[in-house]
Amino acid sequence: MGTIVPLRKLAAVFLLLLWLTGCGYSSDQPPTSARPAAPETGQNMSPEQPGVPAGFGREPVSASAGTGLQEGGSAPGPGIPGTKTAPKAAAIKPVAGAGSVRSGSKGEDVRYEFVPIFMYHVVDHPGRTYAELYVEPADFRAQMQYLDDNGYHAVTLKQVVAHWQEGWPLPARPVVLTFDDGYPSVYSQAFPILKDFNFAATLFINTAKLNKPNGLTAAMLAEMADAGFEVGSHTISHLDLTTVSDKVLVREVAGSRETLAQMLGTAPVSFAYPAGKADTRVVGAVKAAGYLAGVTTEYGLAAADQAPLRLKRIRINGSDGYRGFVKKLAPYRSYLAGFPDLPPAPP
Ligand SMILES: [Zn+2]
Repeated sequence: MGTIVPLRKLAAVFLLLLWLTGCGYSSDQPPTSARPAAPETGQNMSPEQPGVPAGFGREPVSASAGTGLQEGGSAPGPGIPGTKTAPKAAAIKPVAGAGSVRSGSKGEDVRYEFVPIFMYHVVDHPGRTYAELYVEPADFRAQMQYLDDNGYHAVTLKQVVAHWQEGWPLPARPVVLTFDDGYPSVYSQAFPILKDFNFAATLFINTAKLNKPNGLTAAMLAEMADAGFEVGSHTISHLDLTTVSDKVLVREVAGSRETLAQMLGTAPVSFAYPAGKADTRVVGAVKAAGYLAGVTTEYGLAAADQAPLRLKRIRINGSDGYRGFVKKLAPYRSYLAGFPDLPPAPP
């Protein structure tokens, strides 16, 4: 027995070294220029993206990690079923008001290995450029109506991460609605519609755009956060993080977190890579800054066995409309069909 423990220690040190070198903090490729990343225009992350270190996904969602998951909320969100049996004390911010999920839904004992994370940008009439980023308000309402009619519940990304990592219960048929870039239409168009359905959302904010003509105001953001929306970071200035120096990387990733924490009183735990651009170095910086969840633009259902800082999303384009949205939900419907205790979703 005497030799086993030292061997274990050696192995641990070895793994730590592997992890550190894999993190890329000693990056040997100082970027030549920092480029602003285009909006998330549909480019998937390249398939050769290196993986993340082993054990990455086991980081507990705990208040001690400064995650903000525990936000003075002794009482879990109204209507979140099964909260009395929620493990540990790590309460998610009460999901009140617009973010609340209705009671009476099944699902408290169900573990959802897959959850769709929808990616939206603007909910408004299309502009002249990047038309696909614009979802018509009428289409958006129809999409939300479909979710509501079929027993889906929009929750926040951090709720899903808590579900996967701590067994936090979710309402039946959970989905996540994310909005990138902090466009004012999220407040003026999407927010009222989401309130009608008691749906929550996760907003990814470029902090430099706050209080600017094409951005949300701090007051709007605070109002939505109070209503139960999750506010995550989308960096300060929407740079392609794979092209910036280590110093700029830390500033964009950790600095934006600090700004949002000061503004909202809660440090964000979710992060969206501008234009989905992420590599091992970038992911390492996001982890080091304290984020627990990261979303890419790689298409697909998010899953419990994906690296939590590289979760896939399902992009919703302006051209999708109602039918395209329903079609993109099909893989999730197929997955849910395997739950015998949930009512079948209409076609
Ligand atoms: Zn963006």
